[in-house]
This record gives sequence, structure tokens and C-alpha cells, in this order.
Amino acid sequence: MPTFKGKSVLVLGGSRGIGAAIVRRFAGDGADVTFTYAGSRDAAEKLAEETGSTAVQTDSADRDAVIARVRDSSPIDVLVVNSGIAIFGDALEQDPDEVERLLRINVHAPYHAAVEAARQMPEGGRIIVIGSVNGDRMPISGMASYAVSKSALQGLARGLARDFGPRGITVNVVQPGPIDTDANPADGPMKDLMHSFMAIKRHGTADEVAGMVGWLAGPEAGFVTGAMHTIDGAFGA
Ligand code: NDP
Repeated sequence: MPTFKGKSVLVLGGSRGIGAAIVRRFAGDGADVTFTYAGSRDAAEKLAEETGSTAVQTDSADRDAVIARVRDSSPIDVLVVNSGIAIFGDALEQDPDEVERLLRINVHAPYHAAVEAARQMPEGGRIIVIGSVNGDRMPISGMASYAVSKSALQGLARGLARDFGPRGITVNVVQPGPIDTDANPADGPMKDLMHSFMAIKRHGTADEVAGMVGWLAGPEAGFVTGAMHTIDGAFGA
């Protein structure tokens, strides 16, 4: 029987890239998958049709909309918060509103979604957030706000693992290194610099990240919680 048959999975930010691979993974393993998107309606509708999942528009920058979406989808067996953005450039020049928006998407949304999901989540539920190796290591300038946001998810996992552990609910962070997506194409201008930090000198694939998420959500990972799981070709080593 497929691993997630009869399980309800909500992926925040599932229309493209790593999120889309996660949607495909769970749908392929029999789950009933709902995913959100913000701007990519065409990609979302195509993916929903391909996988038999449900696409709903919800902006992760809007706290109340995120909470309402999670509530409407509950009870959820597996919550994956993948939506995330980066901004680049001199910290002294960045628009504070842009930094604020990044923090709402990358930190506030995962926190409030996790708490809301846990209200009705059954015993053995799984909460997985997509962080970044930049939560551990930020070897270049111009990405401090992104590093702040991904480090914050480590505290989220450690803290909420304590809150929800007594109910058998696990909370984990998956921390990718460079992964080939629209946000970080394998042939992009930063490729050689990024690969110079790595032991395996290539971008990872979204499917490789989805595989780790699938394992964390599955029956073998019930004792794994409050932890960071780095998948980065040793970028952070
Ligand atoms: P992409 O930019 O390729 O895709 C981002 C996905 O998140 C899209 O589905 C997008 O939906 C969704 N999203 C973005 N903003 C919002 C929002 N406000 N509300 C709802 N959905 C939103 O990114 P990646 O796949 O590369 O990254 C996914 C996650 O992995 C992020 O959290 C990122 O920080 C993390 N990560 C990525 C790495 C990489 O090298 N690619 C490395 C380390 C971490 P839509 O298009 O509809 O707006």
C-alpha cells in the first residue's frame, strides 16, 4: 500500500521548485494533498491536474490568511511549509518593508501555520519546514535577512517539538544547500562560487529534497524531532 494512503497533507508554497517536488512525492505515495501558491496560478493548476491534488491561492505574507487556510484544511496529518523568498543586496540599502515581508513569509507563516495545524493534528502528525543551510552558514554578503529567517526556523523546531512531542507530533527542519530551481538555477551566475564551498560540486535536485521530506513524514521517523536535517553536498560542513 502507498505510504501515505489516507493521509492528509498540506504544503504551503507548492506550485514550483522544491514545493512542487514535495507535492508530487506525497501525491505519488497516495496522500490527499492540498497546496498553496501566491502568483503562479498556471503552474499551480497544471500541477494540481497532473497529481490529482488541490491548489489554493494563499499569500504566505498574510498571517491571517495562512491561519485560515490551515484551519480550513484541518485536521492535517502532515504540514510542510516550503514557501520562502530571498532578497539580495547591501543591508544598508534594503527597503525595511521588503525585509519585513521576507520575515512574514519565511518566519511568521511557518510559526503560525505550525501552531494552527497542531490544534487538530492527530497523534503521530508531522510538521516539516524548509529552512536552508544558510541557517547554519552564510559565506557571502548581502543575504543577512535570509540567514536570519532560516536560523529562526531552528528555534521554531526546537521549541515546538517540546510543545507537541507529548502528542507524538514531530517538528523538523530540512535545510537544503543549492538546489536547482527558478530561485537558484544550476547554471546561474553564482554556480562556481557555491560549488567551491561544496564536497559534491553540483546543485541538488528538488526530488532529492522531497525524498528527505517524505522520509521525515513517514513511519520510520517517529523518533526524529526538534532537529535540523541538512541536504547540501557539504556546503555547510
Ligand atoms: P522557488 O522560488 O523556485 O519557488 C518558491 C515557491 O514558494 C513557489 O511555489 C512560490 O509560489 C511559493 N511562494 C513564494 N512566496 C510565496 C507566498 N508569499 N505565498 C505563497 N507561496 C509562496 O523557490 P525554491 O523551490 O528554490 O525554494 C523553496 C524553499 O526552499 C524556500 O523556502 C527556500 O528558501 C528554500 N531553499 C531553497 C534553496 C535553493 O537553492 N533553491 C536552498 C535552500 C533553501 P508562487 O510561484 O505561486 O508565488
